[in-house]
Amino acid sequence: MDDADLLLHLGVTAAALDPAPERLRPADAEHRIGLPCAACGLPGYATRIVRLVDGCRWLDTCREHMIASATFQAARRPRGDILTDLREAAAEAGVALTVVIYDEAG
Ligand SMILES: [Zn+2]
Repeated sequence: MDDADLLLHLGVTAAALDPAPERLRPADAEHRIGLPCAACGLPGYATRIVRLVDGCRWLDTCREHMIASATFQAARRPRGDILTDLREAAAEAGVALTVVIYDEAG
């Protein structure tokens, strides 16, 4: 999914977003919670980094626009690609991902 498409969907202008580091660090993200939602200006509930042609930017969102973002992304992602979701989430959070598959039969 292209983050520029997400911004277009939310009606957000990339130039209005603060520059962000390449990788999300939890301490940085914590400081952004409560900042105005990029889409509507309500207090922020979540934040994430969007990767655009000219660099990374913070996308702070209220609860409604966080859900709208997740729904938009989920609708554009191929079905059954849970590992891709997990890899992206782990990379964004800056943590290692270990997948353990448990087989009840054996
Ligand atoms: Zn909002």
